[in-house]
Amino acid sequence: MARTPILAILTVLFLTLTLGPGAAITAGAAAPQGSAPAAKNGAKALPLVVVVSTGGTIAEKTDPKTGGAVPTVSGDDLIAAVPGLATLARIEVVNYSNIDSSQMTPERWAGLSRAVDAALNRPEVGGVVVTHGTDTMAEGSFFLDATLTSDKPVVFTGAMNDASSPFPDGPGNLYNAVLQVCSPNSRDWGVTVTLNGYINSARDVRKTQTTNVQTFESGEKGYLGYITSGTVSRFNDRLRRVRLPLPETLPKVAFLATYAGDDGAFVRHAVDDGAKGIVINGVGSGNVNEAVYGAVKYALSKGVVVVISTTVYYGSVEPVYGDLGGGLMLEKDGCILAGDLPGQKARLLLMLGLAGYGPDAAKLKALF
Ligand code: ASP
Repeated sequence: MARTPILAILTVLFLTLTLGPGAAITAGAAAPQGSAPAAKNGAKALPLVVVVSTGGTIAEKTDPKTGGAVPTVSGDDLIAAVPGLATLARIEVVNYSNIDSSQMTPERWAGLSRAVDAALNRPEVGGVVVTHGTDTMAEGSFFLDATLTSDKPVVFTGAMNDASSPFPDGPGNLYNAVLQVCSPNSRDWGVTVTLNGYINSARDVRKTQTTNVQTFESGEKGYLGYITSGTVSRFNDRLRRVRLPLPETLPKVAFLATYAGDDGAFVRHAVDDGAKGIVINGVGSGNVNEAVYGAVKYALSKGVVVVISTTVYYGSVEPVYGDLGGGLMLEKDGCILAGDLPGQKARLLLMLGLAGYGPDAAKLKALF
C-alpha cells in the first residue's frame, strides 16, 4: 500500500530530471508517435524528437540466403521496436536513406546535414537522433557537428548487432539517444555519438573495435557522459567545436596513409588527379620519409594544400623533427599540422575549409 506513493514520487522526480520541469506531468501516458499528445489541465506536452534514419547495422537483418547483413528496416520499424519510447517523447521519423555506412559520402552527409538542420530549425523540435552505420559514424557525426547551424542536441546512434540478432543493441541505444536529447544534462555538447551508454563528442570519437558493442571511445579526451538507469550523467563539457557554412559543392581532397618505403607516387598521383587538398596520415608525431617529402613539395608547388595527420591513436601532430620529411620541416614548407584531429576528419574539415576560404593558408591553419 505504502509503495505506490513513493514509487510515484520517484517516477516524477526521475522524469523531471531527465525531461525537464513539467515533462513528468504527462510522462507515462503513451503519446501517439508523430502527433501532439493531448495537453490536459495546462500540462506540457512531451518533447518532440525527430529520428532521422540513414541505415547501418541498426537497420540491417541477416539475409538467410547469403548469410550477410543488409539494410532492411525502416525508421518507423526501428521506433516500433523500442519499448517505452513513447513515454519519453513524441517521435517523428524521417527516412533519409537505408544504406550501409560504408556507402556514405561527404555529399550524402551534406544532404543529411540539411535535413537535420531543417528539423532543428522548427521551434517545436527539441532535438534530433540520427541512426547511422557505425563504420563511418565518427566521420559523419563530425561533418554534421561542423555544419549544423542549430545548437539543439543531436545524437548519432546505431548498433553493432543487427536487428535479427538474438542480442540486438539497437533498441537500447535508440532509447538512450532519445533520452539524451530530452535531458537538460545534455546541453551544449553539439553532435554526440552515443552507444552502449557512453556519450562521445563528434570531434574526439573513434571506432576502436570491429565487432564489440563497446566500440566507440574518446581516447585521452574522455567521454562526455554516461547513460544508465534512465539518467544522463555529465562528466565533461565540450572541449572544442569548429563550425563552417555548408557549401553547395565540396572540393576533391585525397586522404593517404604513409608507410615505411613509401615512394611518394600516390601523393603525386593525387596532385595530377586534380586534388585541391591532400591529407597524409604520417607516422609518429607527423613525419614522412624523404621520398614523400619530395612529393609533398611537388604538391605545394602546384598550390595543393597539404595537411599532416598521424596514424598514432593518442597525442597530436607536432613540429618536432628537422630531417627531410620531419614535422618541423613539413610545417616550415607550408603544410598544415592536423593537431589531434584524426586524418579522416581532417580531410572533411579541409574540404569544408577549402570550400569556404579557398587555399587561404592562414584561415585554413586556424581551423586545425
Ligand atoms: N557496416 C555497418 C555500417 O557501418 C556497421 C554498423 O553499422 O555497425 O553500416
